[in-house]
Amino acid sequence: MRVLGPRAKLWRYVENRPHHVVLFCAMLSLALIAILCWRAAGILNERHLAQVQHELDHTRIAVAVFMEQELRRVQTLRQVAEESLQSRQGSDATAPDSQLQAAYAARNQPTWQLPLSAGGPTAFGFGPAELARLPGYVRNDETLLADLAVGRTVGRLLQITVGNLEFEAAGRFVSRNGFYIGVPQDTIAPHRGLERFSSMPLYRDTMPDRNPQRRVVRTPVYVALSRPELRFAISAPVYLGNDFRGAVVLEISQRMLRRALGEAVPGPGKRILAARNGEVIAISEPGMAPGQQWPRDFEGPWRNESAADLWARGEGTLRGAGQHLLFRRVGSTDLLLVEEVSDTQLAAAFFQGLRWPLVGVVLAIGLLLWVSLVVISRLFARFIERGEALRALAEHDALTGLANRRAFEHRFRLERDRRQRNPEPLSLVLVDVDYFKRINDTWGHANGDRALVALADACRDGLRTVDLPARFGGEEFVILLPATSLEEARRVAERLRATVAALAVPAVGEDKTWPGDDAHRFISFTASFGVAETGADRVEELEQLVGVADRRLYQAKAMGRNRVVATDVAAGDAAVAGASPPTARSSRS
Ligand code: GH3
Ligand code: MG
Ligand code: MG
Repeated sequence: MRVLGPRAKLWRYVENRPHHVVLFCAMLSLALIAILCWRAAGILNERHLAQVQHELDHTRIAVAVFMEQELRRVQTLRQVAEESLQSRQGSDATAPDSQLQAAYAARNQPTWQLPLSAGGPTAFGFGPAELARLPGYVRNDETLLADLAVGRTVGRLLQITVGNLEFEAAGRFVSRNGFYIGVPQDTIAPHRGLERFSSMPLYRDTMPDRNPQRRVVRTPVYVALSRPELRFAISAPVYLGNDFRGAVVLEISQRMLRRALGEAVPGPGKRILAARNGEVIAISEPGMAPGQQWPRDFEGPWRNESAADLWARGEGTLRGAGQHLLFRRVGSTDLLLVEEVSDTQLAAAFFQGLRWPLVGVVLAIGLLLWVSLVVISRLFARFIERGEALRALAEHDALTGLANRRAFEHRFRLERDRRQRNPEPLSLVLVDVDYFKRINDTWGHANGDRALVALADACRDGLRTVDLPARFGGEEFVILLPATSLEEARRVAERLRATVAALAVPAVGEDKTWPGDDAHRFISFTASFGVAETGADRVEELEQLVGVADRRLYQAKAMGRNRVVATDVAAGDAAVAGASPPTARSSRS
């Protein structure tokens, strides 16, 4: 046998199992399409993330502009207040009007309140005794008139600016002289404000001991005095020369910042505005509480980050556990804007941005490919099945199911080649039914066929799997016995002979001429055997071997049939024995 190279092996495989190859190629195509889609989805996700970053940039600008504007406003208020103080200092200062005088006159009552101008803001003050127990206030009668005038000026300015903002914020002037004015005006227990400012950072942190540089200060978030909302404040100290006279304050509501954080350019995730020290100023969603710290008081995989680090880095994106954290420093402030976006939110954005017709086309291609695959593999399976059936037909005898002459010859060549490499005996037995014509004549052709099938079954059952029985033609059979000596072959043939002689094949059909009664119609018959072996008989080719076996079969017939001949018998013996054939046992009744 020829040994095949890997390429030839591959080709043989392709030829034998083309459906496997087609299946493999189609699967590979589907996998490639899937990979392409996966890649495309990844790219789209990145694009959505970039989009979110872009939107956060806009929000950063909005917040920066907002904070800048508030800072300017508080600085303007301070400037106006200080200039107002300055202008009242000189000799040409205008005389106090009646409203200022009325307020001044009421200054020593325990609590007093007076409008500083018609329709303008009201001043709320305490008398000296009350002020003495509140830190941060010191009554000075000499400067009180000037301070009241400053309050009025600042109040009018606040009315023009803050008053227009629909109560989103509040502005104040808190005087060291023990009074304050506010816009919009506090309606619930306004005097309590004075008490609270004394300890609140919005006033306390502007005082010289805490703020010698006279900076504008931003306070932590607190609950507003007059309404249940969160605010923080920007305040600036007001000085005349080295004399601290009070503070101007802008209170900024959480609602207002939330608008800047989320409403202008909404993002998919939660946005948090925090100071560099982690103190939370605003959150784009409801549910904020005073004193919250980022990231300490928030869920998510960012617990080990620090707001100060991110602020120092300026901007960027962190990834962790299916989440993305986008961060941006807000302009030149000490504020940091962060947005947390989950993969799920990005996926939602991805599905929103999908081009559905394109998805349909990709799905349709996959489906069509799959359908073609199913059809092709079914077709192949059917062809292969038919091919195998055809091969079986071509190699087997239709009546008995045994190998036919062609298959037998092929197998013989294989065994002969094997014998050339590894010399082992190879035997052959020829079988011929005795007086078969009589069986046909007595029982009919169909029952003759049944007898042949019974003989074939007996051969099949009585042989090893390596042996090959075949129908040689008519009522003649041949058996190939590899690795079997002449003597062993003879014994096999003898055993078969006895088996065949003992067969009783039930006759089928009805015919009055048949022997025996209806219940006991069995066909019995015998067969003769001629045996030959390649080594012993010194022949290698099939025709020669069959020739020898046929000669011995003839001798067996001549010697009276129903026997095995494995070595040639003298011509005379055979002729004598063959002179009177044994009684034909074509029936048993
Ligand atoms: P012998 O003992 O000398 O072999 O006598 P025989 O009658 O068996 O010999 P012969 O070769 O003269 O007859 C063989 C008969 O087998 C002839 C034919 O009608 C019959 N035969 C051949 N093939 C088939 C077959 O497929 N089915 C049936 N029923 N009969 C067949
Ligand atoms: Mg014959
Ligand atoms: Mg015969």
